[in-house]
Amino acid sequence: MSRHHSVLDAIGNTPLIRLRRASEETGCEIYGKAEFLNPGQSVKDRAGLFIIRDAEERGLLAPGGIIVEGTAGNTGIGLALVADALGYKTVIVIPETQSQEKKDALRLMGADLIEVPAVPYRHPDNYVKLSGRLAEQLARTHSAGAIWANQFDNTANRDGHVVTTAEEIWQQTGGQIDGFICAVGTGGTLAGTAMGLKRHSSHVKIGLADPFGASLFRYYTAGELQAEGSSITEGIGQGRITANLEGFAPDFSYQIPDEEALPIVFDLIGEEGLCLGGSSGINIAGAIRMAREMGPGHTIVTILCDYGNRYQSKLFNPAFLRSKNLPVPEWLEREPRYDI
Ligand code: PMP
Repeated sequence: MSRHHSVLDAIGNTPLIRLRRASEETGCEIYGKAEFLNPGQSVKDRAGLFIIRDAEERGLLAPGGIIVEGTAGNTGIGLALVADALGYKTVIVIPETQSQEKKDALRLMGADLIEVPAVPYRHPDNYVKLSGRLAEQLARTHSAGAIWANQFDNTANRDGHVVTTAEEIWQQTGGQIDGFICAVGTGGTLAGTAMGLKRHSSHVKIGLADPFGASLFRYYTAGELQAEGSSITEGIGQGRITANLEGFAPDFSYQIPDEEALPIVFDLIGEEGLCLGGSSGINIAGAIRMAREMGPGHTIVTILCDYGNRYQSKLFNPAFLRSKNLPVPEWLEREPRYDI
């Protein structure tokens, strides 16, 4: 058992959990890194910590300073948690389409929340661009100053995964790892973990698990940034090469439909006691495809990005699933009756 100086020391060092069915079905050993066990309950606590620490080291943050960010939610929660612990404020710009649970968690952590219509990145009022403009404005007007976390193009995000996530996975597997795969939001997790693992051994193969609606599968397989279809998963699905993705190229790329990822999420609850968000389902589906392509006997690690309760009103809501023409698991609608 460890004793922490502050909650910040509780970020990272998450366990690897063997995914039983995925392993049995492929003859590989497939592990998920349990990032939902971070104090802000997602992989993005790492980015929050490294972005704020980097800004401090560069002398950009004064006590009471404001951290501004455009985020699908989890980065905002990570930033708010770290900011609270270190004496900064957080202002978050979030597309209104994101889950209510994430918005509630952000307010709970004391972040000022600005909900904006979800428009594509090329639009000047896209949430990321709005957050950049707001940061500039607050930097001029707020006495303690303001910074833009800029998770997509701030490579402190990726660096965090090079020095923590990749190192942890290497230690936890004793270097006995053949593959690592996950989806991309900013690309920090995938590119950073890939860089760190490849530094240890070029033997480790890297996979991209792309949801529909994202452009990276086409980019890495055909050289063009093009998207098709859509996904209900949140926090992933990139349409451009962010600074965090620069210099990165996967060995394997897969495009994963929600119809393949969601049953994995639903089955994991009843069969393995793991209740995960949708992006974890895309990641595990990708790990299974990569295991099949590499063949039995390999060890593959993926990321369990966040917990299912963050999506109770969507991913685990029969009416929402039906509105998206997605299958509803039988147990979700079961109403147990007992005569007492
Ligand atoms: N899954 C979820 C639930 C997320 O919130 C994010 C971050 N937006 C990711 C995956 C992707 O992580 P990254 O930004 O490091 O690519």
